[in-house]
Amino acid sequence: MKAVPFAQFDRAYLMSDLHLDDSRPALTRLFVEFLQSHAHSGYAFFLIGDIFEAWVGDDDDASLPATIARELRAVAERGVSVFFMHGNRDFLLGQAYARKAGMRIIPDPCVVTLGGIDTLLSHGDRYCISDHRYQAFRHQSRDPAWQAALLAQPLEVRRALAKQLRRESQEKQEVQRVEGIPWVDVDADAVVAEMASLGMARLIHGHTHRPAVHALALPGGRRGERIVLSDWREAEGEAMSIDRDGTFERHCLR
Ligand code: MN
Repeated sequence: MKAVPFAQFDRAYLMSDLHLDDSRPALTRLFVEFLQSHAHSGYAFFLIGDIFEAWVGDDDDASLPATIARELRAVAERGVSVFFMHGNRDFLLGQAYARKAGMRIIPDPCVVTLGGIDTLLSHGDRYCISDHRYQAFRHQSRDPAWQAALLAQPLEVRRALAKQLRRESQEKQEVQRVEGIPWVDVDADAVVAEMASLGMARLIHGHTHRPAVHALALPGGRRGERIVLSDWREAEGEAMSIDRDGTFERHCLR
């Protein structure tokens, strides 16, 4: 069964894995510069996960989320449709913040027609099925009751928890680096199975921090492609544009 696209746009920009955080002000500046200079009416911006390094709740009164909301709203007011998909870091971002930022939250995965091509969008973590511990956490963290219980905690408690999760994640990454354990990638079979079941030939995702374009052999002899967005690091970001003929281009932001 072919999935029905929720919308179509001739031109779009896609970004993921900015991991915006107070500790990396250069990336916040790059993102704001991009928003201010690329907000052309008729475009759609797709922010497909891990835009923020952490999200403790829409009631967070820190300056970073407020700055980004203000800039995103300005983009929306210039006629750009802004869409946000949750990543594994900012999965708690809610409707209150989305309204404030003038953006619409879209499910993971979802289908949209970009430049005439039906495109499956996902953050990408849902395909990393070999990491069983993470998938168990993902399942738990997407449960509305679990989220509600967490969001009912005082802001300071949530901030401390976010800090702790981040420290654990960094420690895990360091152990992996030292022991030479390869970073988990998406499961190729899981990707093909989902694309086939939805009738899609193009998937765009992020999360793995492994920018690439993979050619796929789909059932029935069809060819497909899996396009992986880059993460943002040091003082460099990436935005991918889709043109009206469906071609895509990576733009290095620095
Ligand atoms: Mn991610």
